[in-house]
Amino acid sequence: STQIQLIARPTGWPTHDDFRTVVVDLPDLAPNQARVANEFLSVDPYMRGRMNDVKSYIPAFQLGETMTGGAVGRIVESTSPAHPVGAVVVHDLGWRDVAQGDAGAFRVVDEIPGVPNSVFLGILGMTGLTAYVGLKYIAHLKPGDAVFVSGAAGAVGTAAGQIARLEGASRVLGSAGSPDKVALLTDRYGYDAAVDYKQAPIREQLTNIAGDGIDVYFDNVGGDHLEAALDVMRPGGRAALCGAIAGYNSTDVTPGPDNMVTIISRGLTLQGFTLGNYAHHFPEFAAKMGPWLASGEVVHDETVVDGIDNAVEAFFQLMRGGNVGKMLVRI
Ligand code: NDP
Repeated sequence: STQIQLIARPTGWPTHDDFRTVVVDLPDLAPNQARVANEFLSVDPYMRGRMNDVKSYIPAFQLGETMTGGAVGRIVESTSPAHPVGAVVVHDLGWRDVAQGDAGAFRVVDEIPGVPNSVFLGILGMTGLTAYVGLKYIAHLKPGDAVFVSGAAGAVGTAAGQIARLEGASRVLGSAGSPDKVALLTDRYGYDAAVDYKQAPIREQLTNIAGDGIDVYFDNVGGDHLEAALDVMRPGGRAALCGAIAGYNSTDVTPGPDNMVTIISRGLTLQGFTLGNYAHHFPEFAAKMGPWLASGEVVHDETVVDGIDNAVEAFFQLMRGGNVGKMLVRI
């Protein structure tokens, strides 16, 4: 099995020197185990946090050990009756081409004819569910709400904008980091208006498109984007704090929003969340997203990088905005 390990803890932006590739001989299967040929690996922004040696909601990667992360693959060998050879499984033993371990670590999913299994890592998996949970259970989206999504052209963001519209939002606004992405937001993902945060300060640009203001903010970015959203939130507005990618590679202390007083004066609610605590909403989510996808009411994109040897580069590209929709490594 070819596997990727973290060998040094990055300060600021990670480099290729922080990782190494190793080839590991896998032992014979013990009872109730499975071996999986991975088809797709997920690279995700939260993995940057796991490269730091800090206590968090998910343990840090250990130096010199193979990293973990979302993956989907097919069982090629099994000693577990519930995990037959040929079954497709979603699991957390990513960053390697072949995964092996106790069968309980592998969740069998029903393949969808004609659809690549990568969807189970994206629109029908972790990132799609994150968008749904953030809107419904954290921001308590109601029909008629005006919604702003930052990081709108990414995996979570593209899902969030479309779910908001389908759940009755009156207007959906988005921000992303290039003219092409902004065009996709309005032309393909159904956003009513979108801005490129690299063209001018997001605060100015959001104020220009926000009209009477927003009721719900889905925050993937933090920093200046959160300040911009606070500026335009209407009384009683709610923000789901999902991510703060603007600060993940920063070595500076991130300053707090300079307009926090709006939280008081407008009675705003800001709530953070990590999906692990809300995974029980998956059946409800899948019951909606499956038909939305099948009918074309929801569209999705994936940016696919080929080869385990390019997995680290795929992660770097994700952090730099090189993806539209879900960033994946195809094995
Ligand atoms: P994305 O597909 O959105 O990829 C990351 C994107 O972030 C890039 O494409 C880039 O797009 C954008 N970005 C990078 N740097 C900056 C910056 N300085 N300012 C603004 N945008 C930036 O990743 P995901 O959809 O997987 O994740 C989106 C967010 O959701 C992340 O913050 C992640 O940590 C969070 N998350 C949280 C979860 C939870 O349980 N709370 C679960 C899953 C994700 P651009 O070109 O637009 O800059």
